[in-house]
Amino acid sequence: MSRCISVLGSTGSIGRQTLDVAQTLGVRVAALTANTGVDALEAQCRAVQPELAVLYDEAAAQELKARLADMNIRVESGMAGLLAAAELPAADTVVTAVSGMIGLRPTLSAIRAKKRIALANKETLVCAGELVMREAAQYGAEIIPVDSEHSAIFQCLMGCRDRGEVRRLILTCSGGPFFGMTRAELAGKTRADALRHPNWTMGAKITVDSATLMNKGLEIIEAMRLYDLPLSKVTAVIHRQSIVHSLVEFCDGAMLAQLGTPDMRLPISLALTYPARRENPAPPLDLLSCPALTFRQPDEDAFSCLRLAKQAAAAGGTACAVLNGANEAAVGLFLQERIGFLQIAEAVDEAMQRVPREALDSLETAERADALAREAVRAKFLR
Ligand code: MG
Repeated sequence: MSRCISVLGSTGSIGRQTLDVAQTLGVRVAALTANTGVDALEAQCRAVQPELAVLYDEAAAQELKARLADMNIRVESGMAGLLAAAELPAADTVVTAVSGMIGLRPTLSAIRAKKRIALANKETLVCAGELVMREAAQYGAEIIPVDSEHSAIFQCLMGCRDRGEVRRLILTCSGGPFFGMTRAELAGKTRADALRHPNWTMGAKITVDSATLMNKGLEIIEAMRLYDLPLSKVTAVIHRQSIVHSLVEFCDGAMLAQLGTPDMRLPISLALTYPARRENPAPPLDLLSCPALTFRQPDEDAFSCLRLAKQAAAAGGTACAVLNGANEAAVGLFLQERIGFLQIAEAVDEAMQRVPREALDSLETAERADALAREAVRAKFLR
C-alpha cells in the first residue's frame, strides 16, 4: 500500500498498535513522536527508520539525537517538533494518537497541510471541534475517526447520503471497572482499581476516564462534532461485552451496528485504508462463542462526569474546553494519588461553575478556557 504516515504519540497504546498495523499493511512511516520515552522511541526508530523523530521533552530529544547518531534520522523537540511531524511533506496521513489538548495545534497544522487525519485524539474535538471541523472542510482534509465507537458510526454511515435520515447515534460504553457501584462504593476507589479495565488495554488517562464515564461524555461531544448532530441525537448505553462498538438508528426505525472483537487494530486499519478494507491482525469475532449481548441505561447519579459532559455539550462555546481541561488536570492529580476518585467529578463541576463561558471564536479562546480550567483545579486542591 502506498500510504505514508506520521504517528503523533507513537509510544502510547494506539501508537504502538498503529505501527503493528502499518507493518501488516506495508504502510511507510515518515515520522514518530513521543513525550519523554527515549528507549521506546529509539527502538521504534531502529525498527521503522522514519525521516523525523520528535521527543516533546528537550533534554530527552538531545539524548535521542546522540543515540541515533549512526542513523539518518532528523531529531526535533517541543511543539515545533510536533508541528514539523504533522506537516511533513512525505506523509499523506497523520495519526493523532497523543493524549490530551496538546494534540490540538498539531491536528490543525496537519489539516492545513491537507493530510488525512486518522483521529485518535478525542480531546481535540472536544475542546475546539467546531474550529477543527470548519478548517477540515475548508482545506478538504479528511478526518477518519480511530476511536472505536466513532469508527463504528463512520462505518454505519458509509451508505448514508442524507444526514437528515439519522434519528440518533447510540454510543456503546463498557461501563468500566466500577459498573453497578454506588457513590459510597466509588468513594474509596484507588488509582490501581481504576486502571483495571475489563475489556480494553489503553493508556492511563483514558482508562481513568472510562472508570468515571467521562470518556463516554467526551465521546458524545466528539460524535456531535464529527457528525454535526445536536446533543438530542447522540446517546450512550452500557454494553458490558464491548462487542457492539456503536449503532446508528435511522428515521425509518432501521438500526445498523458494527460488531467485532475489542481490538483497536480494526479501526486503525480502516482509517489508513479507507475506502478499502484490508486483512487485519485483529482476531475475528466468533458469534457462536460470543456472550449474550446486554444493554443498560448509564447511572449518571453515581457517574456524574457523564452528566457534566452533557451539560457542557448543551452549554456550548468554551464549556467543553473547560470540561476537558479540568478533567485532564483532575485525572493527573488522581493518577498521582493526590485526590480521590469522586473528587475528579467535583473538580470538573467546580471549574465549570467558576470559569466564565465565552463564544468559541478562535484557537486562542479554547486554549485560554483550557488554561483557566486547569488553574481552577489546581487552586482547589493545591493551595
Ligand atoms: Mg472509545
